[in-house]
Amino acid sequence: MLSYQHAYHAGNFADVHKHLTLYAVIDYLLRKKSSITYIDTHAGRGLYPLNAQETQRLQEYREGIWPVWQARAELSNELVSAWRAALVSAQPMPEAFTHYPGSPWWLSHSLREQDQLRLFELHPGEHEQLNAQELSPHAQRVFGDGLAGLSAMLPAVTPRLCVVIDPSYEIKAEYQDVAETVVYTLEKARHGVVLIWYPLLPAGHHRTLLSSLKESGIRKIWRSELLLRKPGEQDHGMFGSGMLVINPPWGLDKRLSAAMAEITPLLGADSHYQADWWVGE
Ligand code: SAM
Repeated sequence: MLSYQHAYHAGNFADVHKHLTLYAVIDYLLRKKSSITYIDTHAGRGLYPLNAQETQRLQEYREGIWPVWQARAELSNELVSAWRAALVSAQPMPEAFTHYPGSPWWLSHSLREQDQLRLFELHPGEHEQLNAQELSPHAQRVFGDGLAGLSAMLPAVTPRLCVVIDPSYEIKAEYQDVAETVVYTLEKARHGVVLIWYPLLPAGHHRTLLSSLKESGIRKIWRSELLLRKPGEQDHGMFGSGMLVINPPWGLDKRLSAAMAEITPLLGADSHYQADWWVGE
């Protein structure tokens, strides 16, 4: 039984980190004409009204997208500015910031004629909400398990592949399941670009994912982490957001680090960004 609903967390600091990274990766991929298959294994609803009851309950966006949005006049980084302009285009009324777009929106809004997008979602209610979103005609929504769905689509029919894996990690075994699926994915699509999100929690479960990937022999794994609080400050709850990008486009690391240097101080006095190669070339 799935209980996680992303609407409770929409627009939080982890979404900022995750979707800015995704936006930058897509921006690089679009520089070449050859077609791309995008697979989003854990899609969620696609678009989140900030005034929804669920989102209002925790208002996590106030420590995430809100301060970034408010800082518009101070933003000078080219990537952050382009990302912010894309956020504007997600708004039903451009002059008001009322909706936060999820990964299906970010993937769908730049989809070209030659590309395809598959969005997996296993929660019946979330899938229904995703079905109600206006997305590209090339976006296909599937009610089903994302990791199994990804494996079944390999090798991709297009020359290029980009996968987003963003589970809720409600079950501890998901860290290992993700690692195994990623190993299989890279066996079938050696040059595929794979983005994996993970939470930084006091229990440190993400280490299972990281060490399994390191031991697998996969090369070119870039790691980026945004910490909202110092580790150990609280004995429960997420203190940071982690992203792995396997086969990142050339230049992504420096470009994102520059963008995050602008965003991170907006998220609070203790916020901190760090990035390195978890596994090099
Ligand atoms: N990727 C989304 C975004 O960035 O907007 C947020 C996804 S949310 C963190 C995780 C989603 O995965 C939830 O909507 C949950 O219902 C869904 N989910 C959980 N287990 C799943 C599975 N095995 N296959 C597909 N979706 C699953």
